[in-house]
Amino acid sequence: MSTTITFADLGLADPLMRAIADAGYTIPTPIQAQAIPRVLAGGDLLAAAQTGTGKTAGFTLPILHMLLAKPLEVRKAGRPRVLILTPTRELTAQVEESVKTYGCHTKISSMVIFGGVNINPQISALRKPIDILVATPGRLLDHCQQRTVNLSGIEILVLDEADRMLDMGFIRDIRKILALMPRQRQNLLFSATFSDEIRELSKSVLSNATEVSVAARNTTAERVDQTVYLVDQAHKRDILSHIISESGWHQVLVFTRTKHGANRLAEKLVKDGLSASAIHGNKSQAARTRALDDFKKGKVAVLVATDIAARGLDIDQLPQVVNFELPNIPEDYVHRIGRTGRAGAAGSAISLVDSSEIKYLKAIERIIKKTIPQLPAPTGWTASPPSPHGADDEARAEGRRDGQRRPQQRSARPGGAVRSGTGTGARTSTRTGAPSGSTPRSATGDQANRPRRPALFNK
Ligand code: AMP
Repeated sequence: MSTTITFADLGLADPLMRAIADAGYTIPTPIQAQAIPRVLAGGDLLAAAQTGTGKTAGFTLPILHMLLAKPLEVRKAGRPRVLILTPTRELTAQVEESVKTYGCHTKISSMVIFGGVNINPQISALRKPIDILVATPGRLLDHCQQRTVNLSGIEILVLDEADRMLDMGFIRDIRKILALMPRQRQNLLFSATFSDEIRELSKSVLSNATEVSVAARNTTAERVDQTVYLVDQAHKRDILSHIISESGWHQVLVFTRTKHGANRLAEKLVKDGLSASAIHGNKSQAARTRALDDFKKGKVAVLVATDIAARGLDIDQLPQVVNFELPNIPEDYVHRIGRTGRAGAAGSAISLVDSSEIKYLKAIERIIKKTIPQLPAPTGWTASPPSPHGADDEARAEGRRDGQRRPQQRSARPGGAVRSGTGTGARTSTRTGAPSGSTPRSATGDQANRPRRPALFNK
């Protein structure tokens, strides 16, 4: 489908067009251009799209349009017409916010329910008629058992971030929920990846579904300035502190592979005088919300997160993402960098990669179908010998095993820098300040191939 399609071409109702204009959107994103006409046509949909592509409006807008086109004569308390299931509390809240934003000129009502908070205010709120219910599976089932929610009127079901729901073990709950809904309904399944499990789920949920897919991985990758720094594990924490303070970043999301790693890193950054906090699944909902709010308001400059905790976080125009460790699931990299460079905003993602993580880097480059420019570690931080354990330290600390052989491809350059595969370029001045003590970096540099200078070294 052409990307020059306009919102007017989609034939959405007037109040929705006004909300779109209020939001400042000029043209539909590719997933919206593909999904909206198909949802309006009434069939089931299987969509490959991830956070950051505009997928939420891709299903919310046509759903609102259809509810407006077919108003109910009698709306009943606790009996929604649309159910949107999402994996996390944060995502649930964000999706419902989108429903409210796009439905602000309509009388369509929506509500969010998720666990980890007192159920009673939700029960009170469910005594009013609601059109759209956005929920996490577990708490929704609690309500169904208490008969405070009745799913017999569901006309449209959305499974948002279905791959995440499966990863998080929600399949049984989803199946129980499916059994409580009428068979005759429209089903929309959104997933960043199409694993065998997703295919299996879609077979049992969808019928005659149209499949749409946006080049989410590449699209995201194109918008984000990505750089790999080849560094030793033992130096990562110092390098990160140094980079953050030198470059004056005020909002950076840092990913670690483990919860303990996230805590330790946040503590270390605080010791180094930076404002940092960690967000992960072991923290209470209140602590997570507080950390996220402080980060959004700019009170905390560095948020250290694990993949699970960061899922669904929608932080507008996040300029910087750092992979303190590469994820061992390549799709997680795409999710991580999808936090930046949203909807046209420029973003930059840097990854601190130790020799033991090269295998993860290769897997990531295979799925994003591009080579990420590599640079040696910022000058002054590469002289010490490599860590005897490398990046697996964190995993070991949490009792995980990694039986894979460590790659042997390091080729240390004078000064300890690791030679990159793409040419290191002539980085004549950096804001790291320390003298390099290494051979000139232009020795193998080639202007044409030179990786783009990462944002962190720009004023
Ligand atoms: P999502 O992938 O649904 O999480 O959306 C990512 C971001 O894109 C959100 O902040 C939306 O407000 C924004 N967005 C959605 N659709 C558009 C559009 N057509 N033009 C510009 N921004 C959009």
